[in-house]
Amino acid sequence: MNSKETRSKFLEFFKSKQHLIVPSAPMVVKNDPTLMFTNSGMAPFKEYFLGNGKPKSNRIADTQKCLRVSGKHNDLEEVGMDTYHHTMFEMLGNWSFGDYFKKEAIEWAWELLTEVLKIDKDILYVTIFEGDESEGLERDTEAYNLWKQFVPEDRILNGNKKDNFWEMGDQGPCGPCSEIHVDIRSAEEKAKIPGKDLVNNDHPQVVEIWNLVFMQFNRKANGSLEKLPAQHVDTGMGFERLCMVLQNKQSNYDTDVFTPLIREIGAITNTTYGKDEKKDIAIRVIADHVRAVAFSIADGQLPSNTGAGYVIRRILRRAIRYGFTFLDKKEPFIYKLIETLSAQMGDAFPELITEKNLITNVIREEENSFLRTLDQGLVLLENVIETADSKEISGKKAFELYDTFGFPIDLTALILRERGYSLNEKEFDAELQQQKDRSRAATKVETGDWVVLEKDDVEEFVGYDTLETQVKITRYRKV
Ligand code: ATP
Ligand code: MG
Ligand code: MG
Ligand code: MG
Repeated sequence: MNSKETRSKFLEFFKSKQHLIVPSAPMVVKNDPTLMFTNSGMAPFKEYFLGNGKPKSNRIADTQKCLRVSGKHNDLEEVGMDTYHHTMFEMLGNWSFGDYFKKEAIEWAWELLTEVLKIDKDILYVTIFEGDESEGLERDTEAYNLWKQFVPEDRILNGNKKDNFWEMGDQGPCGPCSEIHVDIRSAEEKAKIPGKDLVNNDHPQVVEIWNLVFMQFNRKANGSLEKLPAQHVDTGMGFERLCMVLQNKQSNYDTDVFTPLIREIGAITNTTYGKDEKKDIAIRVIADHVRAVAFSIADGQLPSNTGAGYVIRRILRRAIRYGFTFLDKKEPFIYKLIETLSAQMGDAFPELITEKNLITNVIREEENSFLRTLDQGLVLLENVIETADSKEISGKKAFELYDTFGFPIDLTALILRERGYSLNEKEFDAELQQQKDRSRAATKVETGDWVVLEKDDVEEFVGYDTLETQVKITRYRKV
């Protein structure tokens, strides 16, 4: 089953269970000081769970664009290294706002996976909350008994508070959750170690696909728990992981969500995926990061030197450097992938088509700009490594790379890690603080990096690059 069908099957199924199907909320969050990017399907509905306002329906389902690169959920370091964590991914979800609870949530999840999507029952494991005495929380026997109808008891595993008790924050709605995991290893591998020993153990073929959260408590300001007057369900299923299972693949990157991008990267860089692990990581990182950047720009968040914009710039620079170092791409090329991405995902996310030119132009310009200093910066870093008298590199050098060559700190740290070195981040932070103090003293005005000017049907944008080595203004005309 291809990814388009998979997405529609999920939505159709919940529509048949009287859910209202809504479009994805933007991935870029405005007006929420606690969150820069939507990091789960629940985030856009947060206010309803807090009791502020009412949803259009008390049953909703959707696929939500998520980004996990900062804050509570930061998967950036895993991306490309493993085959199932992405920066940007789709989270399929169904919600009950004070309507159905555990029974329906569990029965429907099972029906969808095993009857509609026809996943072999024998590859599934489920987890339930084991309880926590210190909080007076009981084991979730209700969920256990519901699962028992379908799943042999040795495949229902107890989970601890970290994995199986969900909390929105220090205060607010919370409750036990039940996760569904798949074991897609070969029979031979399965004979060696039982799947239940690998659940929640970072095994690339024993992965969590769906999390069902049962909100039944409210955490009060004093830390105590009280029962919620109405109970809610919040579920999140990793779309790319589901596609991996349904397409009988061992990696998300081998599904049709990623293969068109990977093929295109291969064609542009003259490399074949699957031949050399270092290059494969680079290809996976680029295929992943281009999605994060494209979706973000489509949502109106352009790369910049501050806040959410800097998160996006960092992700893009990370991808550029992977291409430069491991795929020998010294020219801009990531922008070329937008054609493939929008052709493939534009049906589900039309903003990729309407904003295609903007996304392409912004990425190309960002690539041009960083490629101007990347080479020199890498030479400098190489010198630093060669002359280092310890395995920890000074934060002052990292600051110079940041300030003069536009190297985000995590990029410098990543390159150093690859070479077996670490970075003194405290020193870097101190340098950064000093610079901030200096510029505050000089009342320097921070300029946004990309200014989009709209004139009738013609859109122009002006790109400023505020790296100290250069100031550049470029105009583009959208046709
Ligand atoms: P994991 O333990 O694999 O990191 P999680 O427990 O952090 O996942 P949840 O917060 O429960 O994930 O999110 C619900 C679902 O979203 C997960 O079951 C998984 O299928 C999917 N998911 C989570 N993080 C990612 C990611 N970085 N990339 C792709 N899918 C993800
Ligand atoms: Mg996680
Ligand atoms: Mg997990
Ligand atoms: Mg989870």
